[in-house]
Amino acid sequence: MQGRIHGNEPYGAESILTLLKDLGTNGSAEYQQIRDAFTIHFIPMYNPDGSELNIRQTVLYDDATGEPLLNDAGQQQRIDLNRDWVADKFQADESLAFYEYWTMVKPDYGIDIHHQGLKQQYGTGDDVTLSLGISLAPGGPTLPTLQGGAYDLLTRQMHGFVFQELSKYGYITMDRYQVGGNLEIDIKGGVVSAMMLGLDYQGMNPTGHSNPVVFFETSGNTSDGSLGQKARGKSIQQNVLAMKSLLSGLATDEVQQVDPEVWEEIPHAPVAGYSTDYAGFIPVSF
Ligand SMILES: [Zn+2]
Repeated sequence: MQGRIHGNEPYGAESILTLLKDLGTNGSAEYQQIRDAFTIHFIPMYNPDGSELNIRQTVLYDDATGEPLLNDAGQQQRIDLNRDWVADKFQADESLAFYEYWTMVKPDYGIDIHHQGLKQQYGTGDDVTLSLGISLAPGGPTLPTLQGGAYDLLTRQMHGFVFQELSKYGYITMDRYQVGGNLEIDIKGGVVSAMMLGLDYQGMNPTGHSNPVVFFETSGNTSDGSLGQKARGKSIQQNVLAMKSLLSGLATDEVQQVDPEVWEEIPHAPVAGYSTDYAGFIPVSF
């Protein structure tokens, strides 16, 4: 469970800490089932320096002088940690530390919490509170080729289950995470994509471990000011419900029973193509 890799997205940390407290104190059968089924590793705040600065990235520092490293234009070198798990990158210390941690834990699943701007649901125009995302698009150019299609199936079921469970609550309006109105993302440079691709950086993942990961995007960035802050309590609670539901569904194997076609029922614009970080725009009939 990973949150606040982007320092200006606070609810990842807050919701993970809430879930951690609930898992540690709640005596209900559902929480007991989760505790019995899993060992859970929490990274509530992946990007502490960026969080303190309330910026998306982190700042690279010169270890010798303690001053920020500057680029050729004299500006601070800022690194988006969510784009720093790449075979020839790992520019920030945080990236290497958490990558090494991942290679030691070799998790079965991952969940990543983000914020997004305010958006409306396709078809209804309702304000979306939670977008369900996968960084390598189901049915897209990459995911069906991994693990014989197992991740393409399982990530659809993971979000399909969350969608069905959270639809029972009246205040959570969901859709699929899309960009540019009608594009799915298919990025290989994102941290959770690297997990699904089984990135082996400098021989640290010799067995080629990989695992499926989904992410949740809470609507309301810190830059949305009062609009985002007004929804704070509900935003944190919907993340907690989403994470708890997914853990519970995986613990009981209910997730694996979900019809993967539910992925198509989650509100989304008709997909025109894929926004990639390796081949630009790829039309849907690739
Ligand atoms: Zn983010």
